[in-house]
Amino acid sequence: MSEIVFVIGAGASKHCGTPLMNDFLDVARDLLRRGEVKEAKTVFEKVLNAVGGLNAVHSKAKLDMDNIESVYTAFEMGLLLGKLPGINSEEEIASLTPALRKVISYTLQKTTRIPLDSRFQGYYDFTNIINKLIEQKRTFTLITFNYDLGLDYTLYRNKILPDYGLDDIAIQENKVNKALYLKLHGSLNFGRCIKESCARIIPYREFLITKHTPGNNYSTLPIIEKLGNQKCPFCKEPQSEDPVIIPPTWNKTAYHNQIDKVWRRAAKEMADTEQIIIMGYSLPTTDWFFNYLYGLGIDMATPLKGFYVYNPDSNVEKRFKDLLGTGAIERFHYNQLRFEESISSISSVLGIKE
Ligand SMILES: [Zn+2]
Repeated sequence: MSEIVFVIGAGASKHCGTPLMNDFLDVARDLLRRGEVKEAKTVFEKVLNAVGGLNAVHSKAKLDMDNIESVYTAFEMGLLLGKLPGINSEEEIASLTPALRKVISYTLQKTTRIPLDSRFQGYYDFTNIINKLIEQKRTFTLITFNYDLGLDYTLYRNKILPDYGLDDIAIQENKVNKALYLKLHGSLNFGRCIKESCARIIPYREFLITKHTPGNNYSTLPIIEKLGNQKCPFCKEPQSEDPVIIPPTWNKTAYHNQIDKVWRRAAKEMADTEQIIIMGYSLPTTDWFFNYLYGLGIDMATPLKGFYVYNPDSNVEKRFKDLLGTGAIERFHYNQLRFEESISSISSVLGIKE
């Protein structure tokens, strides 16, 4: 369905200031220490204390508690097993994953720092490619695992409306340029209707209202606190206060009824694509989702012209090579480049003049 599928991971948003999975908790800890997350102080403390408790078991077992994906998995497994070191009640264990989601949301909101010229240079250059593809009437899909809003914001700034693949009145009514942008793990700007029979995900779109605190050389996007004030456009019920974000763990099928529409669309767009371009996504070993999306989604009858991976971490090359079948491996290209460094290579792969 799409000639080109871009797959975008956390490495691509790094230039907006957002932390990667393995330094996420350090960044959250710093925000708490500096008093920057007063509105969510108690959930930050709850999560960081629980992580401290898990670290204490290190003399007998090793779990990588620096990585937020591992922490998420530990909390979910703790709930299944009814046991988590340092935590006394199952009720307390059950409260940890919602708390962790809040920590993730606020950490991303506080660290996605928009420069005073309103431009994330890497995403800005990338959306120029998107504009060229729209001009040339080529079909493409952006698939991302990121919750942050760096690319969303930049698309809006460049007058491109993200089509999130949800039931969405704005998409049907709006005649501006659109980009199909599938956020497989949800997003900080996704609210949910609280009426159970509706439960639709509603994207919040007031993107150009940024917040600047005097003395800072950046602005932020105050989105989370606005979600709870929104009404569902379909049934007029209020939306939940927390953003819809789905954990990056093996167990995410438990969340399928929330976002399966977006996953199915991703599989459909990937089916007969000719070019797959992966940027800043490292195929983490804790998350098998992409492996199956690709393995089951791709239609073997359509020849793949290119499978390009851009990532500064050379370990990522092998992970992708292990995933690919013999037909695709001949078309595999790895470039040891950060996202912002990869733009001119991507332009030339797609035959676009900068
Ligand atoms: Zn509703």
